[in-house]
Amino acid sequence: MQTKLLKEVVGEIVGKQGTEIVNLLAGKKNVNEFLIAKKLKLTINQTRNILYKLSANNLVSFIRKKDKRKGWYIYFWTLNIEKSLELLEKIIKKEIENLQSQLKSRQNKRFYICKTCNIEVSEETALLSEFACKECGQVYDLAESEKIIKELEIKIKKLMKKLELIKKESAIIKQKEQKKRERKAAREKKKKQKRKKAAAKRKKQKKKAKKKKKKAVKKPKKKKARKR
Ligand SMILES: [Zn+2]
Repeated sequence: MQTKLLKEVVGEIVGKQGTEIVNLLAGKKNVNEFLIAKKLKLTINQTRNILYKLSANNLVSFIRKKDKRKGWYIYFWTLNIEKSLELLEKIIKKEIENLQSQLKSRQNKRFYICKTCNIEVSEETALLSEFACKECGQVYDLAESEKIIKELEIKIKKLMKKLELIKKESAIIKQKEQKKRERKAAREKKKKQKRKKAAAKRKKQKKKAKKKKKKAVKKPKKKKARKR
């Protein structure tokens, strides 16, 4: 399901032909751009164009490494699933808003239609031409909005469901990312503690060594004292 959603948002940015890139990047990290080009059967420039567009929208990120032999940089790409789902959520929300305003206008306003020309106009426009078609002069009929209203309602419902799905997927991803961050923080804390312990140990050993040295210096004196 997630792949389908990711393909949808990538398609919004780079067109349908670019969506195959999701299959190559999903679940991976730092994918070599030459490998992407080869798999997509595109030139490296075409591939980079797609990736730059995605990068401009924060859907992918990259690291680059210098090719020591050839002297140029190679880019390695990672899909940002969290950001991708966020953008898709935004797009769907806008679509829903647009449909809802269409629905409102259908529910509250009257529309007129010329059945010959198949042209629909608002009541204001129909009024201006005294309810006669501007193209052919025929009298307008009142447009049937019921079917359109139903269609709009169905579309909105479908998009709402999708939005819920995206939110669920987003929550899962965010949780995973959060856990990753926590694990990393815990690892770093452990490392710090280890370093601290090691430093403390070294200090102790140094002290011991110093004491030993002192003792070593003192001992002969003591022995001498005993001999006397
Ligand atoms: Zn007409």
